Amino acid sequence: MALDLDYFRKQLEEEKTRLEGELSTIAHRNPDAPEDWTVSQPDMNVMPAAKEEVADVEEELENAASVEYNLESRLRDINEVLEKMRQGKYGVCAVGGELIDEARLRANPAAITCVKHAK
Ligand SMILES: [Zn+2]
Repeated sequence: MALDLDYFRKQLEEEKTRLEGELSTIAHRNPDAPEDWTVSQPDMNVMPAAKEEVADVEEELENAASVEYNLESRLRDINEVLEKMRQGKYGVCAVGGELIDEARLRANPAAITCVKHAK
């Protein structure tokens, strides 16, 4: 049975919008590379008075960087899968070339391999 591509496209587009929304709260797009995001720096006009505050700011930045990394890599996966869809290759395992189980795609519309070839 053929996959309901409209359903999956909608799922992917919705997640993409959500990820971009989350990213835009902690990061900004690189003007030269629209798919590359950079964590926004805190306002440095406010100089932290004590060492502990500097540590807080650093910790906050580190957290933001790891959240940003996860969001951005998920967003990349989604863009990649949307591109595959445009090429008519959605739902094909990137490793073995076999069709990916529909239940797997419903659980994760951005899956690019079958269960057997998942890392
Ligand atoms: Zn496979």
